[in-house]
Amino acid sequence: MFWDQKIETIERTALEALQLMRLQATVSRVACKVPRYQQKLADCGTKPSDIRSLADVQRLPFTSNSDLRDAYPAGLLAIAPDEVLRLHTSSGTTGKPKALFFSANDVNNAAELVARCLVMTGVTRRDVLQNMMTYGLFTGALVMHYGAEKVGCLVIPAGPGNSEKQLLLMQDFRTTIVHVTPSYALYLADFMEKKGVDPRKDLALRKAFVGAEPYTEETRRKIEEALGIDVYNSYGMSEMNGPGVAFECEHKCGMHLWEDNYLLEIVDPQTGKPLPDGQTGELVLTTLCREAMPLLRYRTRDITSIIPGPCPCGRTHRRLHRITGRTDDMLIVRGVNIYPQQIERVLMSLPSVGRNYQIVLEGLDEMTINVELAEAGFDGHVEHLTRLQSEITDRLRAEILTKPKVHLVPPGTLPVSEGKAKRVIDSRSL
Ligand code: AMP
Ligand code: ZN
Repeated sequence: MFWDQKIETIERTALEALQLMRLQATVSRVACKVPRYQQKLADCGTKPSDIRSLADVQRLPFTSNSDLRDAYPAGLLAIAPDEVLRLHTSSGTTGKPKALFFSANDVNNAAELVARCLVMTGVTRRDVLQNMMTYGLFTGALVMHYGAEKVGCLVIPAGPGNSEKQLLLMQDFRTTIVHVTPSYALYLADFMEKKGVDPRKDLALRKAFVGAEPYTEETRRKIEEALGIDVYNSYGMSEMNGPGVAFECEHKCGMHLWEDNYLLEIVDPQTGKPLPDGQTGELVLTTLCREAMPLLRYRTRDITSIIPGPCPCGRTHRRLHRITGRTDDMLIVRGVNIYPQQIERVLMSLPSVGRNYQIVLEGLDEMTINVELAEAGFDGHVEHLTRLQSEITDRLRAEILTKPKVHLVPPGTLPVSEGKAKRVIDSRSL
């Protein structure tokens, strides 16, 4: 089944011609509207008229995470402020988020891409989609929501957590699809088992769209077996609209990336040089249709490769291998991006906290922060410790938007490593 068969199965030569036209328009647009890009283009000596073939993309400057942070709030905006229809943000390392703007066409286009993804897995207007991603400033929930509405599904804006209520909604409204993080999908499966609910018999669930954080093929199978459903890998990021960038089709053999909207490169993360199809490197994307905030050669920091060859479904847009890791230290916990530096900043601002700390991730996305007390941090009063512990928890929650467990330990008891500190212990079973 296709949402937009013509574009989804477009011949490669026609697709590449379309890409080139859109790339040229995008470069001209930022060169004329965005002073930051004017500067960056000047720095690498490239003019819009230099882009004569797709290979010329390499003459364009990269855009990094820090470009977006430095441009906060509106330094990368390419349309008049009153033409902006929606704002989303994504967390950054310095407490300043990254601002992402959408025009009316951008909002519509993002929903179109999600609609393609959903229909590609067999979704129809008869489906009921329970959206368990976080609503609010994040793109994850809203962009999926609009896409599923475009297909005509009944969309339940459940948000994450509160498993009791999730289950009730699933039972009462005969939910057929859930949009969920891998960790929460596994948690839900456990929860149902404890409640004596057999999803195969008691629910109408058929599919899950699982993404927002890395997970393995084993985790996919585990979720599929536990819930008796098909799991489709869903990849996206706020900088590129959120969900709907790349998605698996019915064959579940890699994620088709919508190349009419995104120009795709895989580069060597160290040198930035392009790698051929099949080789593993960092995914770099250029938006081809964005109006409000076009991005040139955005370094996603996600490690993947292009799966060579055609897909049996007939779509001509190339497929990405499951994301195997990241080039930076961003952690994704319960679908939320967290940089260890955010945690460090909060801890180190408190005089009662010592020098060392450790972030432990285990089980199904449980986060514990072990915090050493300062030498003078403990005066023998247990109630002071309890107060400090809840103060740290509250401050961390305000910073990273998820509540960790905080464990206070005496000074000098956490391991000290030689060289680069190993602050994060990630033994999650995802
Ligand atoms: P955000 O900007 O909050 O939407 O987070 C985007 C990041 O989440 C991506 O750059 C990836 O690192 C990660 N991510 C999203 N979907 C997936 C997926 N299906 N598999 C692995 N990582 C993912
Ligand atoms: Zn396919």
